[in-house]
Amino acid sequence: MASTFTRMLSGRNTAVLMASLGAGTLGAGYLMSESGVSAAEKKKLYPPSADFPDLRKHNNCMASALTPAIYARLRDKLTPNDWTLDQCIQTGVDNPGHPFIKTVGMVAGDEESYEVFADLFNPVIKDRHNGYDPTTMRHPTDLDSSKLTSGMFDERYVLSSRVRTGRSIRGLSLPPACTRSERREVERVVVQALSGLKGDLAGKYYSLTDMTDKEQQQLIDDHFLFDKPVSPLLTCAGMARDWPDARGIWHNNEKTFLIWINEEDHTRVISMEKGGNMKRVFERFCRGLKQVEGLIQERGWEFMWNEHLGYILTCPSNLGTGLRAGVHVRLPLLSKDPRFSKILDNLRLQKRGTGGVDTAAVGDTFDISNLDRLGKSEVELVQCVVDGVNFLIECEKRLEKGQDIKVPAPIIQFRK
Ligand code: ADP
Ligand code: MG
Repeated sequence: MASTFTRMLSGRNTAVLMASLGAGTLGAGYLMSESGVSAAEKKKLYPPSADFPDLRKHNNCMASALTPAIYARLRDKLTPNDWTLDQCIQTGVDNPGHPFIKTVGMVAGDEESYEVFADLFNPVIKDRHNGYDPTTMRHPTDLDSSKLTSGMFDERYVLSSRVRTGRSIRGLSLPPACTRSERREVERVVVQALSGLKGDLAGKYYSLTDMTDKEQQQLIDDHFLFDKPVSPLLTCAGMARDWPDARGIWHNNEKTFLIWINEEDHTRVISMEKGGNMKRVFERFCRGLKQVEGLIQERGWEFMWNEHLGYILTCPSNLGTGLRAGVHVRLPLLSKDPRFSKILDNLRLQKRGTGGVDTAAVGDTFDISNLDRLGKSEVELVQCVVDGVNFLIECEKRLEKGQDIKVPAPIIQFRK
């Protein structure tokens, strides 16, 4: 795309340009230290086996997939932004596991990471996404919210409904790798585009640097804003550098359509409201997202996307739709039943605490959302949450009446 291309001429993206012009070999060592030895040359003094991380106590997808042979093939490769495999996996090396979810254990520094380090990303993606094979399968997109059925939950159980995704701006490094200038460029491009939203979606940008601590904490407590960078998943991946520079939240007046800027992804687009009307939340999500994409494109930018991986985001767990549709739901009886976890697994649902991914469940209320993001469309995934959560509420009602419940048969995601 010509306009993206022109913008890539500036600053750090010169490396992207040089690579796309066939100058990729320059990447490895063209920045010399004063001693005349490049960092890349220094590294080659040691064989890859001497650098192989100790993953013996690890439980994440990267640790399961990384073999000495893959590491040896990839250690010295660089993306056009000079991003390395070691930088991709650092978060998974430093965080052997997570108390509440199985993590992926690696992140991308740029769109090209998924290509250059495909030998490791592909098995990780296959593991995390229930057998999806990025080398042969194609990811579908469907943002037609009218196809959703039974999207109104019983509000005696469902307290709030939310759908979010992420989108990355092509040509700019992802949060683990971006420079300050790239991060500020993301903020500038997105905030300018969002000023074009109209009607119920019209709103305002609130930069973290201009907010008081109290205002920020209030937005976090009300579940509108991402947490402070306390998560080791974020900090070890390098995403918290320069915090809070160029971070912020844009939202409409009702705080039902919100866009996070420069947290884990360039952007996170969120539709949410109190109560159980998932149908309305998804309708606003689809409408808003399409408008945001149009406004970004009008300014000559586009989202990172390809037909095998769908929308490209920082964490491989979010590839594809990037969509997490979830509810805060009260399940006092079912959550104490020993079959609860199995039921969730079979329905392809994930459980989190209501304060976000790094919080334990407190009391009887959980954040229940789709586990999958890739290989199924937005409509299919939200429908999976609607059907699954309705099933959980039915179970809860049966337990209230002293009746028995059944573990449903597992949903098979892909025919293999
Ligand atoms: P994400 O996957 O969107 O990054 P996190 O688990 O990090 O989600 O949580 C981010 C914030 O969104 C937290 O404050 C969390 O409480 C809030 N949140 C998530 N789902 C819901 C929901 N269904 N209703 C209200 N708030 C929610
Ligand atoms: Mg999060």
